[in-house]
Amino acid sequence: MSTHHSSLESKSSDLCFPEREPFSRRYCPVSLAKTAARGTWKVNFLSIFGAVLTAASPCAQPDSQASAEMKARVDQSINREYPSLEALYKHLHSHPELSLQEMETARRIADELEKAGFEVTRNVGGHGLVGVLRNGSGPTILVRTDLDGLPVQEQTGVAYASTVQTTDEKGDTVSVMHACGHDVHMTVFVGTARLLKELKDHWRGTLVMIGQPAEERGKGARAMLNDGLFKRFPVPDYCIALHSNAAMLAGTVGYVEGFSLANVDSVDITIRGVGGHGAWPHATKDPIVLAAQTILALQTIVSREISPLDPAVVTVGSIHGGSKHNIIADEVRLQLTLRSYSDDVRNHTIDAIRRITRGLAEAAGLPEKLHPIVALQDEHTPATFNDPELTRRLAGVFQDWIGGDRVLKQQPVMGGEDFGMYGRTESKTPICMFWLGTVDPELIRKHEETGVALPTLHSSQFRPLPEPTIRTGVRAMTAVVLELAKK
Ligand SMILES: [Zn+2]
Ligand SMILES: [Zn+2]
Repeated sequence: MSTHHSSLESKSSDLCFPEREPFSRRYCPVSLAKTAARGTWKVNFLSIFGAVLTAASPCAQPDSQASAEMKARVDQSINREYPSLEALYKHLHSHPELSLQEMETARRIADELEKAGFEVTRNVGGHGLVGVLRNGSGPTILVRTDLDGLPVQEQTGVAYASTVQTTDEKGDTVSVMHACGHDVHMTVFVGTARLLKELKDHWRGTLVMIGQPAEERGKGARAMLNDGLFKRFPVPDYCIALHSNAAMLAGTVGYVEGFSLANVDSVDITIRGVGGHGAWPHATKDPIVLAAQTILALQTIVSREISPLDPAVVTVGSIHGGSKHNIIADEVRLQLTLRSYSDDVRNHTIDAIRRITRGLAEAAGLPEKLHPIVALQDEHTPATFNDPELTRRLAGVFQDWIGGDRVLKQQPVMGGEDFGMYGRTESKTPICMFWLGTVDPELIRKHEETGVALPTLHSSQFRPLPEPTIRTGVRAMTAVVLELAKK
């Protein structure tokens, strides 16, 4: 989530990996191997399911299996709640709000939690909300949903599509859309809250359910923690969240053990020079030439300084300098996004950027007062590290409740999410964010037939299939809490 750029568009979190890769490559490692062996990335519908089955087989077996009666009871409750949950989903979808403006959304979710029997505190870290349900002695489990939409004009064509327009912080009129599936997350969250209240006799502990604002800006988790989330409310033993996945079939869930989403940093570099006439270059210090050298030299950080076994990205996403053919500018501005998993790689990359830019400025003969200014945005989004033991436990629950053929072991990605922050406080709480498939099988068939890419998260075309996505999400999240807080 590029939270640190100057334009509103670029401030949208990429949390959600805007880059497209072929379906099989990202989500079907087994299918990938098979199709790669045939020399093609094209994936057919059956091979997707083949991959699911094979990928799921190494999963941990559940520690304990829920009884058939318990599963039937949960399904019965989901059946009863489903019409109202789908209506809630459609309402949320057609009423999205931008990050930091989630007032009505927060109000609705807080009201829903109150109706479900939770003790609710509003306005925690801005529009954040916290619902607590105490149910005897046992573990404290935090379940998080995010609340915010994106400045995207919806083009899905669904009957409940958003037509909302609002004013952003710069005063511009923008369209708003739940293009990252946070409406799915909220709906599953409400369904889970209702079911766990109803099933109180089957678990013990404290449930802390939070609605977090400004995820797309990487600000909400920090704001809630700074406002005393782990001080004013019970400190969690586990933090759980799910995120919609735009390449996994509706009805599936996925998980990644360990690092699953990256550290995200934004850096602004101002390369300075001595401007002048384009025909008298010898009387200037050309910052455009220096910027070009710098951009190329920065490529050596990942390729020559970081271990090939440690993922890292240095992308120069923006370059601006100069005004006219025959004028040598005084400065050039660069904007970079940096990705990594480990803190060591992150720190090394940042140090290397400072060293390389300064060294090249010296080589160009610039005095110290004209050395580049390297500004690291102070609000970095830390990597999401899914606690391996907790994740294996969840994988076992998914095997038991969702079924082996619908549980996918996934690859980590270099997108970002501020959920990782909940695992980096003093309490070192184990966290896990799992994936929820959302894609209509029809879309996957079309993708397979035509090769047309599936819409990604943040796309104006992203259209989660409400059923069975919501049912599967509620079943999975409810089952996770029942397992972690079992009597
Ligand atoms: Zn997003
Ligand atoms: Zn998101």
